[in-house]
Amino acid sequence: MERILIAPRKYVQGRDALKKAGTYLAILGKKVLLLWDSRVKGIVGDRVLASRKDASLEAVDVQFQGECTRPEAARIAKIAKENDADVIAGIGGGKTLDTAKAAAISTGKKMVTCPTIASNDSPTSSATVWYDEQGNFTDFECWPFNPDLVLVDSQVIAAGPIDAFVAGMGDALATWVEAEVALATGTGNLAGGISTLAAMELAHLGYDVLMEHGVEARRAVELNVVTPSVEKVIEANILHSGLGFESGGLATAHMIANALPAFPECHHLMHGHEVGFGVISQICMDEAMDVERIYEIVDFEVAVGLPVTFADLNLEGIGRDRLWKIGEACASAGSLCESHPFKVTPERVVDAMIAADALGTERKEICSL
Ligand SMILES: [Zn+2]
Repeated sequence: MERILIAPRKYVQGRDALKKAGTYLAILGKKVLLLWDSRVKGIVGDRVLASRKDASLEAVDVQFQGECTRPEAARIAKIAKENDADVIAGIGGGKTLDTAKAAAISTGKKMVTCPTIASNDSPTSSATVWYDEQGNFTDFECWPFNPDLVLVDSQVIAAGPIDAFVAGMGDALATWVEAEVALATGTGNLAGGISTLAAMELAHLGYDVLMEHGVEARRAVELNVVTPSVEKVIEANILHSGLGFESGGLATAHMIANALPAFPECHHLMHGHEVGFGVISQICMDEAMDVERIYEIVDFEVAVGLPVTFADLNLEGIGRDRLWKIGEACASAGSLCESHPFKVTPERVVDAMIAADALGTERKEICSL
């Protein structure tokens, strides 16, 4: 298998970056379809629309319907075609961005993502996660191209909810841990190849940035301020993690995270929170992981406020019978858990999750002393 690295064509991040949205978008075309919901438009609409005027860029303003479904992407594609837009820009959370990506691919338009929260690493990726009309996950698709532009306004992200920022750290924390497993076993990445040295370096860099700056950044975002640590962690959450996961590879942490939304008790959690607990479960199962690294990861999660116990996931007292469902998903054919050098069985996953809960409980107590 070839070594393959995929990436967006341009990544721009900084305080008030959205005030220059028009300038960056005008490089890609003359007319842009802006896809956002009314809440996001209320926050960033004025600055984006003003920058569009300054750059003499024509715009078609479209309100996102709320779920990333195939019909919604088809609706956006139709509007883009009817209006002769050159660029489709999704502005907001993951569902808006993923819908914009799908519509851009199906119409051959330029693809732009402007995340207004740093809650996961999808903005740089070529993937769309599909849902049904009720908001239930159905499947995901990887497109042949990544965004032409990823535009990240640090001030907007720092002013956003702290939970989303912390979730992004959970998603980013998993990247190196999972990519290492995929590299060691030669498992393919999401780009259709195997990992490059560059992807591994980026994944590792994201991990180091979190360890050094995660706690500092969390404190700053709680106050809605942008500091150098915040800029670094936004870069880790979106860029390092985005390139690292897509061109590195995934494993059990994400498989557990993808199974948790099936429990109604977990519906309040974001993807990155679920990945946070998935990471601890994965390292409790991994024979190659050393104990010092295990404590480093769990203590970091405790310090930034990621879920480290069943109680944190709103699953206090959950028994083996219910966890078995996750174990079975992990052990099924084609699962991301096939990245591991050993056979992942339901027993192994259930035991690891129970061990993770006990470890998280103990480290939480020790860290609070
Ligand atoms: Zn993820």
